[in-house]
Amino acid sequence: MVDRLSTLFELQLIDNQLDELEELRGDLPAAVNELKSQIKSLEEQVEAKEEEKENSLEKRKQNDDDVERLTNNLKKFKAQLYQVRNNKEYDALTKEIDHAEEQTGKLEAETKALEELVEKLKREIKEVEPQLEKLTEDLKEKETELKQIIKTNEREEARLKDKRDKVAHKVKKPDYNTYMRIRKALNGKAVSFINRSACSGCHNVVPPQRQLEIKSNKRIFSCESCGRILISQEIAEEAEKKIQF
Ligand SMILES: [Zn+2]
Repeated sequence: MVDRLSTLFELQLIDNQLDELEELRGDLPAAVNELKSQIKSLEEQVEAKEEEKENSLEKRKQNDDDVERLTNNLKKFKAQLYQVRNNKEYDALTKEIDHAEEQTGKLEAETKALEELVEKLKREIKEVEPQLEKLTEDLKEKETELKQIIKTNEREEARLKDKRDKVAHKVKKPDYNTYMRIRKALNGKAVSFINRSACSGCHNVVPPQRQLEIKSNKRIFSCESCGRILISQEIAEEAEKKIQF
């Protein structure tokens, strides 16, 4: 039982050190993710605008072709006006001319609107460029910073992880699960010890009778206030000695 308790505290001590390394990274991992998602969203906006621009240019080109065709027709119709033989033919022809002119007018107005749209899209795409550049620069900076921190502690982290694996291997599965559950719920600290008659985790006083029971190391006790696994100071000291090596 003594070993079972001290191994749990060894695990806690190693995890404390790993948590400290993790804390050195601070907000960097979150900042990197945030920048990446901002960049992605802007790039998607630009992509959508580029596509709209291309479609507008295509439609514009089609309009030009249509206008050209209508202009040729108009020339033809107007020439035919001199060759009409009766009113009926004349009326039919002028109707065709009116229709072609109306169509041309519509297409030209549409073309003008399309040109304005294309210019607007170009401006908007250009406006995003400096924003994107700035974000990409920030991202590069933060990523470099993060990489440096990770690299500086790479060896230490690997050493601790290796040690953790060995210790975790010695912990019974149900104990490990309990440990991880409390660790997750209570800010990484799952095991506390009695320090000056109080729980080192929540600083609440442990009743004297309970202190004696805990000192006897007969089973795993929990702090009645915070729910952490509570061990004696002797066991805690023993575990600390063990992980020095
Ligand atoms: Zn407590």
